[in-house]
Parts: sequence; C-alpha cells; structure tokens
Amino acid sequence: MKYPPGTPGTVCPYSGIRADDAEFTHPDDRKAAAKIVKHAALQDMQDAVSDMLASVARGSKSITYQPATRSSKPRPRFGRRDLMRLLVCDCCGRDYGVFAIALFCPDCGAPNLALHFAREAELVGQQVDLAESQSKEHQELAYRLLGNAHEDVLTAFEATLKVAYAYRVENRPLGSPVVKAIGNDFQNIEKGRRRFEEFSFDPFAELETGELAILSLNIQKRHLIGHNLGVVDAKFAQHAREARLGETVELVAADIRAFAALCRKVVRRIDDMLGDVPLPPPVDQTEEDAMPSKTETVGDLTPEGSAVGKWICKTSVDGLPWHLDEGALIAAFPNLSTDQLGEALADLAEDDYVNLTHTISGRLPRVHVREDLFLTFDPICVESDPASDALQLIPLIRDKDSVDVPALHAESTMPLRRFNPAIAMIIAEIGEGRVSGAWCEHYPTPYFLIVDSDRVAIKRLAGRLRE
Ligand SMILES: [Zn+2]
Repeated sequence: MKYPPGTPGTVCPYSGIRADDAEFTHPDDRKAAAKIVKHAALQDMQDAVSDMLASVARGSKSITYQPATRSSKPRPRFGRRDLMRLLVCDCCGRDYGVFAIALFCPDCGAPNLALHFAREAELVGQQVDLAESQSKEHQELAYRLLGNAHEDVLTAFEATLKVAYAYRVENRPLGSPVVKAIGNDFQNIEKGRRRFEEFSFDPFAELETGELAILSLNIQKRHLIGHNLGVVDAKFAQHAREARLGETVELVAADIRAFAALCRKVVRRIDDMLGDVPLPPPVDQTEEDAMPSKTETVGDLTPEGSAVGKWICKTSVDGLPWHLDEGALIAAFPNLSTDQLGEALADLAEDDYVNLTHTISGRLPRVHVREDLFLTFDPICVESDPASDALQLIPLIRDKDSVDVPALHAESTMPLRRFNPAIAMIIAEIGEGRVSGAWCEHYPTPYFLIVDSDRVAIKRLAGRLRE
C-alpha cells in the first residue's frame, strides 16, 4: 500500500497520480447530474402551477375547470456504454469499478495488475469449463471455445505487459529518449525482455527453463489458432516436436490453465516492480534441464531418465502422485525427441518411479507418477527428505486409533509439498481396508485407521528409516 486506506483524495487507477475526489468526476457525470436536477425542478414547477389552478373555479357557476390528464416527462436515465469491471483491492479491501485495465487501487494506491489478471484467468477458466462440458457431437465447438480461451490468455497477458511498460515509460525523467512503437513486441518473450531492460527489470526472471519453454510454445500456438485456423505450419513444427505439419494443433484444457498460471506468475512480479518492493531473486534459467548430458545421473538411471525425474519432482506442487501432462513434458525438453523422451520414461518406470499406460492415440504413454519418485528425488531436487519427515510424523500418530490427515498436516506445520511424500510412506504400512478410499483435495486420503498390526509395521518403518 502506498497510502493508508481512507486517506482523503483518490489515486488515479491508470496513472497513479493522487488528487482531490472531485477531480475524478467524469464531465458526462456532471452533465447527467445537472439534467436530473433540471428534470426534477421542472416537475416541481408543473406540480405547483397545477395545484394553484386546481381551486381556481371553485364556487363559480359560470366557470368550470377540469384539469387535463398530465403527461409528465419520463425521468432521464443514463447508462454506461463501456463495460465496468468491479474489483476488490487485495491489499486494503476497497471495492471499486474501472474500465479496461487499471494499474492501481484508487484508495491505497497498491498495484492491482495481478488482481486484474486473476480476474481474466478466472473468466478463461469458466470458458474452459464450458468447453469441457460439451458433448461428443459438439467437439468442433469445444475446440473453438478452447481456442478462444487460449487466445484470451495471451491477449490479457500482452495487454498487461504493455500497460506496465507504458507506465514506466511515461514516468521516466524529462528528456528521456523517445521509445519505438510497442507493436507486437510483448507477444515475444525476448523482445518483451529487451523492452524492460531499460528499467533493469526482467518480467520472466522467476520462470524456470521448462516454464519459459511452455510459455513460448503457447505463444506460438496462439499464432496458429489466431492466424492459421489451428493448422500446424512449418515454423511451428520446427518449434514443437509434438506437432505434425498440416495437423490441427493440440489444445487441452489443462494446457490452457497451465498457460494462465505461468502468465500470472509473471504479472505478480510486475506488480512487485510497480509497487517498488524487493523482487524475488531470479531463478537459474540456464539450459540445465534441457541438456541432460551435463546433469548428474540418479542411481542406475540414464542422464535423460534422471533429467526427466528431476523435472517431474520440481514440477510437483503438492507431492501427490498424479498424471503427467504430455504437452508440458515435451515443452520442457525441446532438445529430446519423442523417442528419447519415451525411453527416458521407460527408464523411470523400470525403477518404479512411474507407471506407464500405452495408448493407441498418444505419441507418449500416459504417465502416472508414483510416490517412490519423491522419496528418491526430493533430497536431490527440493532439499527435503521424506524419510526424516516421516520420522517426525510417526510420534504424532502413534497413539491414535484414527488419523485425520488434513488435521495431522496442520499439526505438523510442514509445507504440503513435504508432508504428502512423508505421510504416503506411513500410509503404505497401513493394512488394506483401513485407509479411506474417499477423494480428498490436496491429500492422498482424508483419514486412515490404525490397529495393533499397523503400529508394529510403523515401528519397523521407523527402525528402517533411522538406519
Ligand atoms: Zn487498495
């Protein structure tokens, strides 16, 4: 926040300049207010004159007065032609409405670009939901809806980068050199980066190599969908290994959500920059993951298998087994062919880190990540150790007959990403039928029961883990 909420005056949501409240009344609003007052005054005068005449002929035998039915003019109404977006500032809680994209909260002056983008992402999410709810016979419509949602992500992202850049340019010291027209520069990661270099700011600094690859792939996809009816051209086929010349580019709901999530990460950094708060340090964007030959191998795995395993481990947000997104995997390893990726996955499957299901249509098998992957890769990639975390959890559950997993998580105060691989090790020791099969968001199970034989198994697990 730049100003405590409730400070007199208003911050312009677009320029960030602070002025008296009255400065922010639109001239059309002034005119509208005057018209409403004029209408009310005329109405009052008419009423007054009618009242005066109402009794004018009373008592007279020669004059009769019959008032005609009065037709009063309808009250003027005013409407907005533009679409107003209603937001609630996530810093001070002030609710306000703005047209198009605004940068700042009018009350506390905090940057609100990320808030705008979150709203865009929400709308895109609704479009994707709509596409997913279409039946089989409406597949073409579903693809069109997904294409539009995908395009909307990039349009909003580009507009956000543009307004942030234009704001910084406007606020340079007098006499700064004129900048070239922005054009399509923000549809391109490298060009966008160069634009912000003048302000020693890299909007993409928090994205890892794989994430940058996904972002770039999605920007390319948008060009195809927008300008080529989604048909893969030679340039795109070169860019993405999954694509085949002349085929329609693949578009999956999960990809669009992932694309929007990456854009949100970038926009949050822009908000921090606009708010002059210290920026999170840039992540290492060297091509380490993309060039597996240079990475250290894990166990008996090949360099490619090790690199893919590390990538899976780092991509997981909650440490739960899940089905890997094929598009994201391919985008993260632009230097590996589909065959090489298939081999790397088979390598991981050989050591039980993943389960593979071969399908007829997919170029790669469906990948189900197993808990074992975290046990091996977490200590290498994310500096946590599920074994020692499990040892921390065991004393918390030993005396219980039933364990509420979300409550145990709260009690442990461990981050979710560390908690799940650790609790999974314990759950593996619980006898069949005592682990609830109910679905539970963020956790492998909502609860499990413990009987004496489980207690023995957990004790033995603790012994093995301490070795
Ligand atoms: Zn605010």
